[in-house]
Amino acid sequence: VSDPRVLGIDLGGTKIAVCTFTPDGRRLDRRQFQTLRGPPEGNLARIVELGRELLAGMAPLAIGVSGGGPLDPRRGVIISIPNLPGWEEVPIAERLRDAFGAPVGIENDANACAIAEHRLGAGRGSKDMVFLTLSTGIGGGLILDGKIYRGHRFLAGEAGHQVIVPGGNPCGCGNRGCLEAYASGTAIARMLSERNEGIATAKELVDRARSGDPRARRSLEDIARFLAMGIANLVYILDPERIILGTIAVAAGDLLLAPLRCEVDRLLWPAFRRDLKILPAGLGLELGDYAAFAVAPM
Ligand SMILES: [Zn+2]
Repeated sequence: VSDPRVLGIDLGGTKIAVCTFTPDGRRLDRRQFQTLRGPPEGNLARIVELGRELLAGMAPLAIGVSGGGPLDPRRGVIISIPNLPGWEEVPIAERLRDAFGAPVGIENDANACAIAEHRLGAGRGSKDMVFLTLSTGIGGGLILDGKIYRGHRFLAGEAGHQVIVPGGNPCGCGNRGCLEAYASGTAIARMLSERNEGIATAKELVDRARSGDPRARRSLEDIARFLAMGIANLVYILDPERIILGTIAVAAGDLLLAPLRCEVDRLLWPAFRRDLKILPAGLGLELGDYAAFAVAPM
């Protein structure tokens, strides 16, 4: 290997992926391991080991880190990772810079996904777009006027915790009635267990809806109605050109997106509907890997 490579690290509470890319964003190799419990040192050592193996001794051109938790992209510090005690104030950019001798960019995963979709996916060519993860939780990343908008405390885009039902379902964050308590994978699983129709997960729900099960389709329409409220709120505030949705929307496609678009249209003033596109993530289920690539400083 002699061509320059970019290293992308997708750092989550359950798994960590390390990938190499060409500078124009073609993924070459990928390794993944279960996130080790305990202090960050073990995970950092494993990341460095896998990175060196993939790079075959070469220094990377740049390194991107997408982290599943609050972090400070300016200082290059992970503030915390949910469900991973011991990951507090980890200066990951400095550690990786020392290990590989390359510049490091870090971003929280929802923002990193937004940047990747904007550069390489369904957001290409747009100036104002909102990305929502729809997986176990709901996170958001905002591209405004062509740039990621992080907010004063790097917390902008927590769209999953807007309240859509006052006094509603309890949310993992401690509040009630959050969008995440109605339309995330976790919330969907809870709704399905209450309905007791023999479907346990969002994935099973999508499979059953695809095979034509009318009850499964109705459940997806119910989820679309909640999601539409959250999305309409974002459109009224930000007036974006595109809304791009991850994981569950990628798997469900129009089974979710068709009722969602109808419902969003119903909630919005006609002026807001002009050119508004609600799309599944263009990078599909590999978005997490490309998110890490997309935040490498080049
Ligand atoms: Zn919440």
